[in-house]
Amino acid sequence: GVGKPDKKVKTTCPFCGVGCNYDLNIKDGKLIGVTSNLTSVVNGRLTCVKGRFGTDYVHSPERLTTPLIKKNGKFVEASWEEALDLIATKFKEIKDTYGSDALAAVSSARCVNEENYIMQKFMRAVIGTNNVDHCARICHAPTVAGLAASFGSGAMTNSINEAPQCKVIFLIGGNPTEAHPVIGAKIRQALRNGATLIVADPRRIELAGKAHVWMQLRPGTDIALINGMMRIILKAGWHDQNFINSCTTDFDKMADVIEKYTPEYVEDITGVPKHLLMEAARIYATAERASIFYTLGITEHICGTDNVMSLANLAMLTGNVGKLYSGVNPMRGQNNVQGSCDMGALPNVYSGYQAVTNAAAREKFEKAWGVKLSDKVGLMMPDMFDASIAGKLKAMYVMGEDPIRSDGDAHHVRKGFEHLEFLVVQNIFMTETGKLADVILPAASFAEKDGSFTNCERRVQRVRQAIEPIGNSRPDWQIIRDLSNKMGYPMSYSHPSEIMDEMASLSPMFAGLSFERIDEKGLQWPVPDKEHPGSQYLHVDGKFACGLGVFKAIDHQPPAELPDAEYPFMLTTGRILYHYCLTTAGYSKHLTEYRPEERAMIHPDDAKRLNIADQDYITVTSRRGTVQARAWVTTDVLPGGIWMSFHYHACPTNEVTMGCGDKVTKTYEYKVCAVKVEKT
Ligand code: SF4
Repeated sequence: GVGKPDKKVKTTCPFCGVGCNYDLNIKDGKLIGVTSNLTSVVNGRLTCVKGRFGTDYVHSPERLTTPLIKKNGKFVEASWEEALDLIATKFKEIKDTYGSDALAAVSSARCVNEENYIMQKFMRAVIGTNNVDHCARICHAPTVAGLAASFGSGAMTNSINEAPQCKVIFLIGGNPTEAHPVIGAKIRQALRNGATLIVADPRRIELAGKAHVWMQLRPGTDIALINGMMRIILKAGWHDQNFINSCTTDFDKMADVIEKYTPEYVEDITGVPKHLLMEAARIYATAERASIFYTLGITEHICGTDNVMSLANLAMLTGNVGKLYSGVNPMRGQNNVQGSCDMGALPNVYSGYQAVTNAAAREKFEKAWGVKLSDKVGLMMPDMFDASIAGKLKAMYVMGEDPIRSDGDAHHVRKGFEHLEFLVVQNIFMTETGKLADVILPAASFAEKDGSFTNCERRVQRVRQAIEPIGNSRPDWQIIRDLSNKMGYPMSYSHPSEIMDEMASLSPMFAGLSFERIDEKGLQWPVPDKEHPGSQYLHVDGKFACGLGVFKAIDHQPPAELPDAEYPFMLTTGRILYHYCLTTAGYSKHLTEYRPEERAMIHPDDAKRLNIADQDYITVTSRRGTVQARAWVTTDVLPGGIWMSFHYHACPTNEVTMGCGDKVTKTYEYKVCAVKVEKT
């Protein structure tokens, strides 16, 4: 055994957006385990295998412990002084030669709020560009855009702990059992309490087996399905006319568009038998209250933002928003992807979703930061790679992300990085992207620093330092502060709480936040003043953040790449229970032991035709790349479908996925691409 801990430090889990709290058990300055902390508001004693066993990556011998500078193609150890001097000089040189917009940064949904705030401030105030983005771009950016357009606020409307009390749950494009396990547990709790569950998913996920209605739709046909449900609801008179009249606008335009989505037409597009569609519509619309839960099966499509707005349409049509146990509830992916958006690590907004194009907002930040700010919306992440290849972007600063492994069409992303003049990568491990860097800066992990994460129900919670930074690593916020000082823009923060105070003073929706106030239970935004108790659910009584909720008229749009004779299968990617991102969980011995390699799901009919047996190695190839994995022959996927995760160094699935995405937010269409499959 590892013995008794010397101390326990309550903190927030660094993996998924549920935001469980638990105690890090510390002995002799080392993290030796995780135990429940019953004061945790979100999860109580619950955690999942990732939170419980996955944090051993913190002490992996592979951790980066000192800055590295590439000299003659090889990384050489360097002092902080030397590394930061070099970066400051190169950034200044590039800014002076090509202008501020020749630089860009990738901020991080893995880092604390304060680090995201300081990163976007660094890019905007010191470099002078709005070229800052992060991995929300590749997951829930359509949620932020779609829910903001429909409701005026791009976040989960309700709270995680309402789930067990829900009477009807409509789960679409999400597999919480594996990707958000504590929410999965709460949905199962609702079922034990007598709730009715509708699932729409192309795969037989665990909850599909427990659902009253499971609609196994073809990937990329969500809009048709939702429009079909809405048409049935309208024809049957199950809609909420009062809510529509008093709380929404543009209903008629939407109603016109859905007219053609007869159950037969919808069955043609989605493959869902019409009796199931009608049953789902009836259950959802006739419940006193019904709650929608979704995740990346909705957002990661070329029509991701439209998919999100379709769900908002459905909720408004039936008055299922603005009250307890209802709403539209995106389960955010990364631990702090809500927070990194909130903090303005996006090319179009400062913290608190204040637009860079809004003169009054810009002037406020100019005054506070003492500089002139750019009014030009910055580059989204996929555009950064294009701009680099086109010779317009010359330098990048990548914090806490590994785009070559996580973004669609890895080949193109790699090419983007290769074209840069200067690349700085700041991370806790060496990454694929890091291998191309000119300078590597070693960062501290979540266990080694203070700060806050914001979970998917908008709860800002404390992250607490439990051990000293490993080796010579430093918290990201200190690195950015020191770099800023080197570049001649003074930053004097001595603790992340000071960064939160500055952020709160400039962001009306977060004005009530402080480390003191979030200490015990966190606070759910909006929290507009220091007395405000936080907001359990949004749009109370149909009073939307934007005034009236907006119906959107949306038509079905097929995926960008459909199967053909050469690439006859449709690949979908997603998460599994035992893993998380490569740069943290990928270094957890415990998690790797549970499930050591990639398993690609394939239907038995297809496997038989291709002479593939369960556990055989197969090669999956798209127009962009190729990977190998072991076959998992299962009826859980549709014939013609392949399902893979993206959790393994030995099987980098994003070599295969698509480089194009949602027309509004550019979120890659990870859920559909055409591939061929061969026995290896
Ligand atoms: Fe961590 Fe998410 Fe698991 Fe909770 S459900 S322990 S936040 S990975």
